[in-house]
Amino acid sequence: MERYDIVVVGAGTAGMPCAIEAVATGARVLVVEAQDQVGGTLHVSLGQLSGAGSALQAERGISDSAKAHMADIERINRGTGRRDILELTLPRQGATIDWLMENGFDMDPVCPTILHLHEAYREARTYWGVEGGISVLKVLTPLFDAAMAKPNATLMLSTKATGLKTDGGRVAGVTVEGPGCTREIATDIVVLATGGYGSNAQLFARLTGGQALYTAAMPGSDGSGIEIAEQAGAALRGQDLFLPTYAGIPEKGDGNRVIWRHMPSLTPQVRQPWELHLTTEGRRFVREDDPSVDNREHALAAEPDMSFWCVFDDAIQDKAPALLPGWTAAELAAAWNARPDFVTAPDLATLADRTEMKSDALAESLAAYNDACTGASADPMGRTHLPQAIAGPGFRAIRMRGMVLKTPAGLDVDQTLTVRRTDGTPITGLHAVGEAIGGSTLSGRGFISGMSVTPALTLGRWLGRTLGQSPGARKTESAA
Ligand SMILES: Cc1cc2nc3c(=O)[nH]c(=O)nc-3n(C[C@H](O)[C@H](O)[C@H](O)COP(=O)(O)OP(=O)(O)OC[C@H]3O[C@@H](n4cnc5c(N)ncnc54)[C@H](O)[C@@H]3O)c2cc1C
Repeated sequence: MERYDIVVVGAGTAGMPCAIEAVATGARVLVVEAQDQVGGTLHVSLGQLSGAGSALQAERGISDSAKAHMADIERINRGTGRRDILELTLPRQGATIDWLMENGFDMDPVCPTILHLHEAYREARTYWGVEGGISVLKVLTPLFDAAMAKPNATLMLSTKATGLKTDGGRVAGVTVEGPGCTREIATDIVVLATGGYGSNAQLFARLTGGQALYTAAMPGSDGSGIEIAEQAGAALRGQDLFLPTYAGIPEKGDGNRVIWRHMPSLTPQVRQPWELHLTTEGRRFVREDDPSVDNREHALAAEPDMSFWCVFDDAIQDKAPALLPGWTAAELAAAWNARPDFVTAPDLATLADRTEMKSDALAESLAAYNDACTGASADPMGRTHLPQAIAGPGFRAIRMRGMVLKTPAGLDVDQTLTVRRTDGTPITGLHAVGEAIGGSTLSGRGFISGMSVTPALTLGRWLGRTLGQSPGARKTESAA
């Protein structure tokens, strides 16, 4: 049977740096990747990063620290993340930014900055490359290719890990299925860098309170790494910590896939709202211009199906800055003509009928907002951006969905990133990193800028180095 010191499952955001570092220690490393390409979610991710104490911050005179980063995170997510894992990654994240820069990262010159897409940090510690996640991948790829060219490294693409072997409570091997064959690989160390489950609607419903899935995840984010660990006795955490992203529109009217280009412009710091956001019953549920996206996301999470109608009229359609800036004119025309989630109506009663909102509630919501626009009364939700009444003739509504960028639940790990059983004991030799440990482990019930990609890179590197240097990793040479 083939034997490796370390098997890294998944060659994405966390798996690639993990393998690079593990190979550098001289350990015999196998990387198995289910897709026919490496990079995982970096192919679609915005690749926003965060890190305190980087050289770039120092150059700009920004005084920042891991402690301040931690305080900001715990302010935003109300302490719902794992402090012990945050303590592992945050002090190393500034160095991750430096490492990317040393390896040719094409940093957007506006960075580091404060980003408003997610709840804003108090300090300028968010960064991104000019090509988003692809910029990160462009740094990782040559380093990964060089590592895989070494004699102690093997890469198997289009090969999926389908099971784990344990012996006396320790990892003993992994079953992989590649083109036309199933193989058993012997190893004492498996790293599950398999990402989340944002492309697996069934698993999403099971691990996320039965919610329907609207997703921008890569197809490879199928949760299979989490499932094989569960079968080996691993405990999960974070099932109760889902927070939807505010908000997406599926690419197709009857589909659940959201592409980033089709995201509506709902960040008030970028575009103030001219529309109303109404529940499927026609009620207001949020202050649309609330500068806190966290407030808006929690309001959406409290709605039973985490969706809303974005309502406006023809005059606003003509006058307001684009609500859907990434859509082409042809895509928009096709959507308004044919999609059930893009509704036009000559009057409010017809709008209620076509959207199935309650006509009384819809009329009351608009009347109260319109009164606020004329100054007759205050807006019932406290909204202050009141550009003009939504009075028709000609009304419009677009159905928007709370959506998934990262999945909250994942494998429970200890501070060495060793996977734990439900009784809290470690499964020796089984490790997890990246979104496989649950997006909520670091972000809690919140979206924390850069706190998926950066920890995946940072802890991926740390784990690869640590495992490669551990005495347990060097068995192959002596056994051979
Ligand atoms: C549209 C979008 C935008 C985002 N923007 C940001 C952002 O700006 N900043 C941020 O911090 N986060 C962002 N995220 C989240 C972040 O990108 C991900 O959480 C992170 O990239 C996941 O890294 P990972 O290594 O855990 O998984 P991935 O990068 O997804 O890698 C997992 C790899 O494992 C492989 N795999 C899975 N199962 C198996 C198996 N059984 N056998 C073999 N291989 C397997 C997959 O094919 C994949 O290649 C975004 C996510 C999306 C979808």
